[in-house]
Amino acid sequence: MSLPAELMPAVLDALPDPLFILSESGRYLAVYGGNDTDHYHDGRALVGRRVDEVMPPEKAAQVLEQIRRSLRENRLIKVEYPLAAHEVKGLESADGPGEPLWFEGHIQPLAKQVDGEWAVVWIARNITPRKELEERLRLTSVLDPLTGLFNRRKLLEVLIERFAALRRYGEPCAVLMIDVDHFKQVNDRYGHSVGDEVLLAVADIGRRILRQNDLLARFGGEEFVLVLPQTDLEHARQVAERFRRTLIDGLSTDFPDIPPVTVSQGVAVMRADDVSHEDSLRRADQALYEAKRQGRNRVI
Ligand code: GH3
Ligand code: MG
Ligand code: MG
Repeated sequence: MSLPAELMPAVLDALPDPLFILSESGRYLAVYGGNDTDHYHDGRALVGRRVDEVMPPEKAAQVLEQIRRSLRENRLIKVEYPLAAHEVKGLESADGPGEPLWFEGHIQPLAKQVDGEWAVVWIARNITPRKELEERLRLTSVLDPLTGLFNRRKLLEVLIERFAALRRYGEPCAVLMIDVDHFKQVNDRYGHSVGDEVLLAVADIGRRILRQNDLLARFGGEEFVLVLPQTDLEHARQVAERFRRTLIDGLSTDFPDIPPVTVSQGVAVMRADDVSHEDSLRRADQALYEAKRQGRNRVI
């Protein structure tokens, strides 16, 4: 059996997600459904207007392009896009969910013309919770859980990028390998949780000396790596020296009851004749080893 035709308006209005009929020139011909204000703003005020009248030019152009693509290719198109109610004239003061919002648009050509124009059915589903989850997962996949610094995975990505920039554009880049001195003793004498707090403090103090494009990562355990784009060996050495001294001051203030914690550092720069990003990291590691050998609490 099929439903009587006179039920169709009620069916359309009960659609959980808003459904827009949009013409090829970008006119809102009709809006149905999407009545739950926890998820959607009421789009009925848009009927009769054109996307380029109600949206910022760049967003309107994207909407038009999707409409035309769906019509041109005569198929279902799926797009994900951010859109805030305050960006749409007529919806600014409507009741609805907080911002920012992400939508998944399903765009299907309509088989018949409306008012002499081809048109599409555009269903806009609110996918904000999924987007937020994706963003959280993306972040956790590159962050170290203890310190909140970038992890080794992100570090390697950045080193690969920087090495490519050196080879392509001759952009210099320095790499610092940092290791906390006698850290095992901190754990052994004061306990693992004090050890954790020291690592957190090292990370915080490191963050404070970072410039905009620098990257500080936890390499593992009590080892950190600082990547300094656009920096030559001499400047990198100065940064390392400043970090070493700032750390001693900061850690003796933060932990007045334990002997000052120090770090050893190895500094290296990427070279155009390196085979890969791993070479500068290896040289920094060798320099760090030398710093340990020479008595720790120093930069080599
Ligand atoms: P060195 O001056 O030669 O670097 O001596 P060290 O004691 O710092 O070096 P070693 O590699 O022997 O010890 C590193 C210690 O770091 C051992 C390990 O238990 C500790 N460690 C690694 N990760 C963590 C962590 O997340 N939290 C704490 N509290 N300790 C950690
Ligand atoms: Mg170590
Ligand atoms: Mg150590």
